[in-house]
Amino acid sequence: MDPSKVTTFKLPKRAKVNIICVYLSNYFLNDDQGEVAKAKSVLDNHNIQLEVWPQGAAKTINNTLNYPDPVPHDPYDDAVNKVTYTDLLTRARSLVSSKVPFSVFATVVFGQFKHVGIGITPPSVGLVTPLCIVSPNGNSDKMDVLHELGHASNLHHEDGIAKNFMNGTNGRSEMMRFQVEKMAKSWFAVA
Ligand SMILES: [Zn+2]
Repeated sequence: MDPSKVTTFKLPKRAKVNIICVYLSNYFLNDDQGEVAKAKSVLDNHNIQLEVWPQGAAKTINNTLNYPDPVPHDPYDDAVNKVTYTDLLTRARSLVSSKVPFSVFATVVFGQFKHVGIGITPPSVGLVTPLCIVSPNGNSDKMDVLHELGHASNLHHEDGIAKNFMNGTNGRSEMMRFQVEKMAKSWFAVA
């Protein structure tokens, strides 16, 4: 077997990745549905520590952004989308910036959006200060947050491997060595 693809790999030295969680007012559930706890537990298996603000990814008035309508998406105009997603990221970060204890982090926004699918990590925002948006209608494997953090680490889909976290569909639980190593070197990782 290709050693870069083993699914039991643990980093020899523990790595840390930081995320912050912001909810949109259009997100109709009370919490993240266990998505962040699931990401924490899978990453821990590979010796990556997921640091989360606020603790437990809790939804409170302090991290809920007034955003009544779903985040728009124009299928024909990437320039418009870049403005939409950059504006969302700016608003999410400025809402909580005085409270967040991290200097580098990925921003995970729980909310409704028009783009197809359960999560989106808009490429136009880029891999520095990345933005992941996760829908309230998540998969039952609770791997949507970790999947989007994979995109934020510049990982791509592995649609031939059903259990891999970068598969696009439900039933995921595994990370391959090269994916673990790439996330540990992402922009939102700290030494
Ligand atoms: Zn994806």
